[in-house]
Amino acid sequence: MNELMLSSYSAGLDSHLKGYGIFLSDAQRMTLLEHLMLVFDKNREMNLTRIDTMEHGLILHILDSLLLLPCLDHLGYKHENYFVDLGTGAGFPGIPLAIATGMSGLLIDSVGKKAHAVEGFIHTLSLSGQLSAKGIRAEDLARRKAGAFDYVSARAVAELPVLVEYASPLLRKSGCLVSAKANIQDNELEAADKTAYLCGMKRVSREIFELPDGLGHREVIAYRKTARACVELPRKNGMAKHRPLF
Ligand code: SAM
Repeated sequence: MNELMLSSYSAGLDSHLKGYGIFLSDAQRMTLLEHLMLVFDKNREMNLTRIDTMEHGLILHILDSLLLLPCLDHLGYKHENYFVDLGTGAGFPGIPLAIATGMSGLLIDSVGKKAHAVEGFIHTLSLSGQLSAKGIRAEDLARRKAGAFDYVSARAVAELPVLVEYASPLLRKSGCLVSAKANIQDNELEAADKTAYLCGMKRVSREIFELPDGLGHREVIAYRKTARACVELPRKNGMAKHRPLF
């Protein structure tokens, strides 16, 4: 892509982000665009995303990932915090969040090939000092790194009650799960709140954002770890999804 097109996408991204009160430097926006182009490139070899235009990618990958940012701001994140992005896929929202916040993080996906691709993106974007990627399930990570994270991020990974159960053993006390999803039904939210109670967590915020260009809306929901879980976590792999607590 030539420089003129790149700077026009960067300006477009800037104006989208400003609409949500998100202000990033030119260098940050260029790195975000570079990530998106790497994803599109890799998508020719393996199935990483159904989105295939820069215009939609700007909104549905970059902006959508960064909609977690206002929530992280309210929760008082610090750039020295450590986060894990569960079910990162092609690195969303983990890579954009790391670029925007400066936080260090671990990006995991249960599909090893995806984690390997993300490792390549991290290297190419010169983010290796800040981020790493691993092919591992959330439940297995919790067995190895219990309480190691200040934040757990997740977009479009699982039903909210499942995410709450995955996040609880990974978070340190007062750490937060910050998740983005479309169309959360009342019964899903109710089940997530009840699950949170058993998992020592409490819902602390819920925000709804309209995406530009009629591309739908997103809900960003956060839960804070407030106490020890009343159930032993993590349960066996797959249990959170196939036998939810509620
Ligand atoms: N978060 C990315 C995004 O928003 O573009 C990818 C979303 S994709 C629909 C869900 C991803 O979660 C898949 O790549 C899948 O392999 C991963 N996943 C599902 N369950 C998981 C688990 N228990 N642990 C780790 N990754 C998981």
